[in-house]
Amino acid sequence: MKLRLVLGDQLSHTISSLRDATKEDMILMCEVRQEATYVKHHKKKIVFLFSAMRHFAASLSTKGFNVHYVKYDDPANTGSIRGEVGRLADQRGISEIIVTAANEYRVLEDMKQWANALTLPVAIRPDDRFLCSTEEFAAWAEGRKQFRMEYFYREMRKKHAILMTDDGPIGGQWNYDESNRKSPPKDLTVPDTFHIDIDDITQDVIDLVSQHFSDHFGDIAPFHFAVTRDAALQALDLFVYARLRLFGDYQDAMVQNEPWMFHSHIGLYLNCGLLAPLECIARAEAAYHDGSAPLNAVEGFIRQILGWREYVRGIYWIKMPDYKAMNFLEAKRALPEFYWTADTKMNCMRQCITETKQNAYAHHIQRLMVLGNFALIAGLDPDQVNDWYLLVYADAYEWVELPNVSGMILFADGGIMGSKPYAASGTYINKMSNYCGSCSYKHTVKNGPKACPFNYLYWDFIDRNADKLRGNPRMGFMYQSLDRMTDEKRHEIQVDTDRFFKEIAPHEKS
Ligand SMILES: Cc1cc2nc3c(=O)[nH]c(=O)nc-3n(C[C@H](O)[C@H](O)[C@H](O)COP(=O)(O)OP(=O)(O)OC[C@H]3O[C@@H](n4cnc5c(N)ncnc54)[C@H](O)[C@@H]3O)c2cc1C
Ligand code: SF4
Repeated sequence: MKLRLVLGDQLSHTISSLRDATKEDMILMCEVRQEATYVKHHKKKIVFLFSAMRHFAASLSTKGFNVHYVKYDDPANTGSIRGEVGRLADQRGISEIIVTAANEYRVLEDMKQWANALTLPVAIRPDDRFLCSTEEFAAWAEGRKQFRMEYFYREMRKKHAILMTDDGPIGGQWNYDESNRKSPPKDLTVPDTFHIDIDDITQDVIDLVSQHFSDHFGDIAPFHFAVTRDAALQALDLFVYARLRLFGDYQDAMVQNEPWMFHSHIGLYLNCGLLAPLECIARAEAAYHDGSAPLNAVEGFIRQILGWREYVRGIYWIKMPDYKAMNFLEAKRALPEFYWTADTKMNCMRQCITETKQNAYAHHIQRLMVLGNFALIAGLDPDQVNDWYLLVYADAYEWVELPNVSGMILFADGGIMGSKPYAASGTYINKMSNYCGSCSYKHTVKNGPKACPFNYLYWDFIDRNADKLRGNPRMGFMYQSLDRMTDEKRHEIQVDTDRFFKEIAPHEKS
């Protein structure tokens, strides 16, 4: 009998491990302690994944497949994927193990040891749900000094014939980002995100997570994520119908108490396999052709999936395992406690962390320009920042989280992904949000106790990292400004920075 293993982020009926499955084979799915706790994932994320796994297993059983599903609280559960594969192999006289390659370096390395450890043939099949294979990305990257996403994206547009005419990109441009930076008007109405009622399976999982993961970060309620493919397709359709039209215009905008904005909220479904990237792209492209969404919105959305998503995965696999250990700026400050409690006077941080805690979601610009920007300019330790991002978001898996954190926000990779750090002062946050209006600090004040911390931390970051960044051609202007500063101004920046860090880390006080 063949054993086919389906992991929690492999919930696609077309997954390579199941492609030639027969009713005689055994399909194993397991909820294991090791994966749920190696970082203490957000409770809502665990509810989502366990419930989606249970629904997927039920749909396989309905089709007549022989599914062996191990629940988290099964007393015989060994707590690891390898342990469960070995246990079933012993019990059932398995002749071969078939699995799709794990999307995480750590798990894939372990899989490669199974044949020896279990003395059974193990077939590890490629995960072909992505639009660019790891080999294809490696060939694209070969010989390049810099891996710019924009060039990769253009290749992907041509390869998959998306938004293309015979003469080039539809509309004549590859990228419409200059139309995608509108500030939100005061009377902006944001449609509600997708909601689906909790069924018995999800309720059982909620009870289990409440009991076994009470010390994990985040709120379970309200729980309204899709946990089946049908519901995930409905969530996709709702996005295309209600939000896509304005996705581009307000892509970078942040509004107090509006966590969902005009983003799609489908990352969690794509990353666990309930949705496929090409079907999301096709629906958006069709909305452009039928006139229901403009080109700047559709191109912007497609670029995120066809470009960024595939690109970060490619970077992950060509650079691991070294990528995880990179710390180009030698940042070492501990993650402040307020990343867990949201207890900070900085309204932008409080908003984004509170919403993250409630929803296991924050949109891209909150992750990048508020939470990430702070982590960069405050010099937070990349390992701690990576752990935080990996556990708090329902869509977080190392292959996508790590390049976004170490590459995009922290510049820990020294410029593999971005040509310069994405550091910004309070002026940017004020331009793209209405957070500053409800803040104890003033974004217009540069120094002193009332000053926005982003303002002085920004210059402290530039100063602190001068030996690493001064030579960067895209940072020349910043260093010219720093060099023009009076000694008194630089002293004020230092005093404010020291005071701020003392305030947020009381244990550092003497
Ligand atoms: C610091 C940081 C950490 C991040 N961690 C994750 C993560 O763990 N998992 C994750 O899926 N995305 C991550 N992202 C990328 C992006 O923020 C999320 O994909 C997005 O916010 C998910 O929400 P959405 O589905 O509403 O996306 P939308 O804004 O509607 O975008 C549509 C889709 O495009 C893809 N996408 C967009 N931007 C990126 C990107 N930079 N990298 C990869 N895919 C992208 C996602 O699949 C997303 O669902 C991170 C970004 C930053 C800056
Ligand atoms: S003033 Fe500064 S800390 Fe306050 S919300 Fe604005 S950017 Fe954030």
